[in-house]
Formats: sequence, structure tokens, C-alpha cells
Amino acid sequence: LKALFPEDVLNISKQLTDGEVKFLKQLDDLLEEKYRPTINEHWVNATVPEDFFDDMGKLNYFQNPLLFEGREGAKTPSQLFQFFMSYVVARFDVSLVTLLGVHQGLGHNSFLFGGSKEQVAYYIPKLQSHELRTCFALTEPEHGSDVAGGLETTAKREGDKWILNGEKKWIGGANLADVIPVYAVDVETGKPKGFIVRPEQAGVDIEVIENKIALRIIPNTIIKLDNVEVEEDQRLQNINGFKDIAKVLYSTRAGVAYMATGALAGALRATLDYVTERKQFGKEISKYQLIQEKLAMMQGNLAHSMSICAQLARMQENGEYDEVATSTAKMMNSLRLRESVAMGRGITGGNGILAEYDIARFFSDAEAVYTYEGTHEINALLIGRALTGDSAFI
Ligand code: FAD
Repeated sequence: LKALFPEDVLNISKQLTDGEVKFLKQLDDLLEEKYRPTINEHWVNATVPEDFFDDMGKLNYFQNPLLFEGREGAKTPSQLFQFFMSYVVARFDVSLVTLLGVHQGLGHNSFLFGGSKEQVAYYIPKLQSHELRTCFALTEPEHGSDVAGGLETTAKREGDKWILNGEKKWIGGANLADVIPVYAVDVETGKPKGFIVRPEQAGVDIEVIENKIALRIIPNTIIKLDNVEVEEDQRLQNINGFKDIAKVLYSTRAGVAYMATGALAGALRATLDYVTERKQFGKEISKYQLIQEKLAMMQGNLAHSMSICAQLARMQENGEYDEVATSTAKMMNSLRLRESVAMGRGITGGNGILAEYDIARFFSDAEAVYTYEGTHEINALLIGRALTGDSAFI
């Protein structure tokens, strides 16, 4: 266990079962052996490693017997395991964990929570086995933080069909998806609904956003919908208001706190590798006190973030999970990540801005983590509302 999580000074990973550790070791080995040699190249070239999605499917995350050993009656992998799964992938690369997160989290849960019994029975097994890929299309060019009341994409009912018009922005992995849950406002009721759209449908145009400085490996896209026809039976039957979309968002916000923590561990690892190699004034820079203080701060930030995640996972497991807890974790862990990658970037000097030293990738990717799934300010406002009873934003 120590070899797999040397940076876990609070021994949180000790609470994992043997089966969970075995799974995580297989995952870590796969990432290190197969994907390590080309990860920075993919980041620079903004390309997705070809087999990644299929390899993740083969791990059989939703059903793997290793994750159910000693957990009779459990239907999903434990929440603590889910934290560590995100952690291990994020420690390796933040784009890849995001790609997995939009499929397994926001996308999958759009179908799970939003689908009728028949839709769940049809789509969930295919999504879980990775036979079908999905994503999550909510944000629009003019509406990010205020998406709850601001959606401009419309859905108009015509007989047994709906006609969708509008534009979505930032949608991660839509160009790789087979089915896209698209959220649009019903022009009659003014309430948002969810629709299952296929990229090859007439009127759907998907463009990859170029020149991102963060998460370069995951393609983010603009989806244009021009009179796209969706049959009523392809409408997600249980999405009938923003509260139903919020349920999906809320189910995965803890996941971003988990990713932020893994990314911090990746940054610490890249920094440690560097300081033990790099010599200045005749000795390795790891031997200098000012360097060690920054490494200790990064380690301290990591311990804080890991313990918040472990407690969040415990709360989720007990059904005590709430909005303030997840917003606190997302806000604080993203902040600690941002602070830590900046220290790591500083410690690695000029080489720290070169992709080949890894830290540049974590430094840049942290900016996206800070913004998506509720910006720092929006999570602060959710916490502020709970503290004061006053909503300062809606
Ligand atoms: P804005 O909402 O325009 O905010 C700009 C600034 O104003 C922020 O600092 C914000 O905190 C601040 N602000 C806004 N309102 C207030 C207020 N009331 N008080 C104080 N400050 C305020 N969306 C999807 O639907 N699917 C995806 O797969 C997806 N993937 C993404 C991947 C990446 C890399 C990124 C960057 C975004 C992704 N998003 C996705 C969208 C993401 O959720 C939004 O970017 C996010 O919600 C913020 O919206 P915005 O970028 O429009 O910023």
C-alpha cells in the first residue's frame, strides 16, 4: 500500500479493502506502463490516447467482483474506492480523469436519474460496459454560472417529436460520444427537460474548441443544434425542472474534489522527481531548506484535501451527503490544488514551464478544475447562503 500511495501520510488508503487495492494497483500499472511514455505528447498535441476509453471499460469498474469482496448486498463500488479511483487517474492526468468523469459521472447519472425505467434498463448497462459513450451538455456560450435560470436552448413539441434549437459550449468529449444528454427549455412550460441526442442526427454540428491552455487532452466542444428532431421516447422522462438537473450535478461535485486531490498528488510527485535530480550551488535542490518548506506545504495541502475527501466519502456512504459539504470540498480542494501547483511550478524553475517535466500539465490543468462544476465563487455563494440564510446570487 505504501508503494502505491507513498504520499498518503494520514494512512487513509488503509481503509480500502484488499480487493479495492488490487484494482487500484492494476489501474495504476496500466497508466504508468501503457500511457506514461506519451502523456505529455498527447497534452501538447491535444490528442486523446486511442485505447484509453476501451481500457477503462475493460476494468469493469461498475461490476468488478474485486470491488464487492466483503460488501454483500452492495450495488455500487464503495464511496471511498470512488475517491481513490478518481485520485489515481487524476494523479496521472487530469484530462483523462475528466473524460472518465463526464462519462461515468455526469453523463451516466443523467440517464440513471433522468431516465424512465425502460431508458435506464436500455442505456445503463451499455454505458457501464463502455459499449456506448456519453457526455453532458448543459452549459451554453452565454450561460455558465447562471445556467439554472438562463438556458436559451429550446425544445418545442410537435406531435410525438421535439424540435431542439440552440448552442452548447465546453461539452467534454461530445465528439467522441454515441449519445449526448442535451438540456433544453420546453417553450411551453419554460422548464428545462433532457433529450438524448446522437451526434449523427440531422442538424447536429459538433466543433472542437481549439487552443485551450488547460486539459488539452480532453476535447471540449461547441454543439450547434439546428431544428434537431428528437422522438418523445428519447426524452429523459424524469428531467422536468432544474432541480432534476441539479441532482445530477450535485451527485458528481464530490468527484471534482476527488480529482483536485489526485492532481495535487501528481504535482507533488512531479516536483519531488525534479528536486532530487536538479543540482544548483553544487548540490541537489532537495537539500535546501526553502525548497523543503514548499514541499512540506504541498504535502500538508494534500493531507487536508485527502481527509476532506475521505470524510465526504463516509458521508455519502451513510446518506448524509449535502450541498454545503460538497461545495466546501470542491472549493477548498481546488484552491489547495491551485496553490500547490504554483509552488511546484516555482520549484521546478524554467523547466517547470516545459511540458516534458509534467508539472506544467498539472499547473495548467488546475485552472480548469478551479472553474468547472461550479466556480470558486459559485460554491462560496452556496456555502454563504447556508451560513446566512440569504441567497446572494439567485
Ligand atoms: P461565468 O459564469 O461567465 O463566470 C465568470 C466569472 O464570474 C467566474 O469567476 C464566476 O465565478 C464569476 N461569477 C459569476 N456569477 C457570479 C456571482 N453571482 N457572484 C460572483 N461571481 C460570479 N459544461 C457542461 O455542461 N458540460 C461539460 O462537459 C463541461 N466541461 C467543461 C470543461 C472545461 C475545461 C471548462 C472550462 C468548462 C466546462 N463546462 C462544462 C462548463 C463549466 O461548468 C462552466 O465553465 C462553469 O460553470 C463557469 O461558467 P462560465 O465559464 O460561463 O463562467
